[in-house]
Amino acid sequence: MILIFLGPPGAGKGTQAKYIAETRGIPQLSTGDMLRGAVAAKTPIGLKAQEVMDRGDLVSDEIVAGIVAERIEADDCKPGFLLDGFPRTLPQAEMLDDLLAKAGRTLDAVLELQVDEEALVERLNSRIAETKAAGGEVRADDNEETFRKRLEVYREQTAPLIPYYKDKGLVREIDGMLPIDQVSVEIDKVLDSLS
Ligand code: AMP
Repeated sequence: MILIFLGPPGAGKGTQAKYIAETRGIPQLSTGDMLRGAVAAKTPIGLKAQEVMDRGDLVSDEIVAGIVAERIEADDCKPGFLLDGFPRTLPQAEMLDDLLAKAGRTLDAVLELQVDEEALVERLNSRIAETKAAGGEVRADDNEETFRKRLEVYREQTAPLIPYYKDKGLVREIDGMLPIDQVSVEIDKVLDSLS
């Protein structure tokens, strides 16, 4: 099963992607996690990506598509995989189409997590406060200003992917404002209907 998770930053994609990975036995491929790994390891890609990520902009399509192209060839992706945070632009979606076509594979569904943006800002601020109170470290791009920038980037560059995949009949809408375990229940219904 090959799935894409779409939805604005902070919608809960990461949490639900982990749930899907565990229950369906497919890896969660988070380009955000991969890029943060590259930043931490100070690889050439990481050094290029850091500043762009910190200000809430997108890393170049070529860099991200290159990372994904390499990752989906790994053995653990044979049963399928869940893309979390990729594609994020129309050129990335087209690059993914090419990659899958070359590998003779097809996309099963695009899960669209629908949420209210102002509620996301509130959620973010309470998450930051909780992390700080617990003595934890807050991500460099976790602040209201960068978050609003990421929402704007999502609206402008990523939201156009919804009609792109709707035309292909692949979009399944999920209410992301439900409690976390209810969202998982809704996702299960969609995934069960695919298999
Ligand atoms: P995320 O953890 O998915 O919110 O990603 C964190 C940051 O990594 C984003 O704000 C972007 O700067 C970068 N990033 C992650 N995925 C992509 C992508 N598919 N295309 C471009 N930049 C990305």
